[in-house]
Amino acid sequence: MPEVNVPEGTAVAVIVARDGRVPVGAAEAVAEAGGQVVVVGSGAQEAARTLPGVVRARWADTGPGFRPAVIAAALAEVVAGAALVILPASPDGRDLAPRLAAATDRPLVARALGTELSTNDDGDPVVRAQVGRVDDRILVPVEVHGPAVVTLAVGGRAGGHGDDGSTGAVLEELTLAPTASATGDGTPLDPDLVELLAPDLHTMDLSDATRVVAGGAGLAAGLDDAGAAGSFALLVRVAAALGGSAGATRVATDAGWTGYERQIGTTGVTVDPDLYVALGVSGAAQHTGGVGTPRHVVSVNTDPSCPMTAMADLGLVTDAGALLAELGRRFGVDGDTATGGGRA
Ligand SMILES: Cc1cc2nc3c(=O)[nH]c(=O)nc-3n(C[C@H](O)[C@H](O)[C@H](O)COP(=O)(O)OP(=O)(O)OC[C@H]3O[C@@H](n4cnc5c(N)ncnc54)[C@H](O)[C@@H]3O)c2cc1C
Repeated sequence: MPEVNVPEGTAVAVIVARDGRVPVGAAEAVAEAGGQVVVVGSGAQEAARTLPGVVRARWADTGPGFRPAVIAAALAEVVAGAALVILPASPDGRDLAPRLAAATDRPLVARALGTELSTNDDGDPVVRAQVGRVDDRILVPVEVHGPAVVTLAVGGRAGGHGDDGSTGAVLEELTLAPTASATGDGTPLDPDLVELLAPDLHTMDLSDATRVVAGGAGLAAGLDDAGAAGSFALLVRVAAALGGSAGATRVATDAGWTGYERQIGTTGVTVDPDLYVALGVSGAAQHTGGVGTPRHVVSVNTDPSCPMTAMADLGLVTDAGALLAELGRRFGVDGDTATGGGRA
């Protein structure tokens, strides 16, 4: 039997941690739930400790190898009383949410930009949410008369970076009831974990990256399209050498210098890294809207007064392409930069 269940009729965030880290969007989910949170996954206690905005966190370390069906079955009783269960629309959140909705027999509202809980005249819960469509340019209101599970779009609501923790937060260990699948009977819903591989920094989902090195139009200054594409290919290798992933502005993705999956911003990916390095990025609001709240920002730009440099801890006023080429040389990753392109 679980020791600490979520009180009747309240809102609670459910966060899946990996090695003590919370996903992008966790702080937003906690804020939307008013500071009540259940943290599961590996390093759940550490993750609960470092989450901002927490009033009360219940945590259960479920070890490595996240099994969403097992966790959903085990969590069902813990959150059964909650009228609103909020998960970030992170990869693990999107895995767990529908299973949790099924296990608790309530509807799922997927990828809301905001949600709120109220009661009707009879005191029954009413969950309202705004669901974004067409690149979030249209907000569709959704109303559920009764309890619901909601996934929250990452970046839809302001939230702090998950490293500073919350002063005065109450942290309680949660004992999850063993489920049939956890006791070895198996479940058809969870895959068997064969091996956990570290992400490939060259290809990993940007939103999971703890270091992001982004390139903008300034990185391609003076280059033709082929030369610019070569520069962005080098950016991927230099970013990986720095233990990070490469991002880009919309100017770069629209021009085809790099893929759309690398676009950071309001119409791209939302990131929340520890370190964000911007090479030739002006810092337009539509870009910085997806940058989260990195602990450190470095801006490399020829314009010392551009918005990106204004929000940086360290501003380097220099040519971004030349700096990238130098980094490539020093890291020994500049070998196959040549793409046939060059100065325009
Ligand atoms: C509806 C809408 C949605 C949008 N969504 C997004 C989005 O999701 N993501 C996004 O990024 N943008 C988005 N945009 C576009 C956004 O408004 C900006 O146009 C874009 O972010 C600018 O990209 P940039 O910084 O690469 O280019 P620019 O604004 O052109 O800036 C280039 C920078 O490079 C610097 N520079 C020039 N030469 C050099 C050099 N040799 N070395 C170093 N620096 C140099 C310049 O000083 C400048 O600061 C959106 C726009 C709209 C209207």
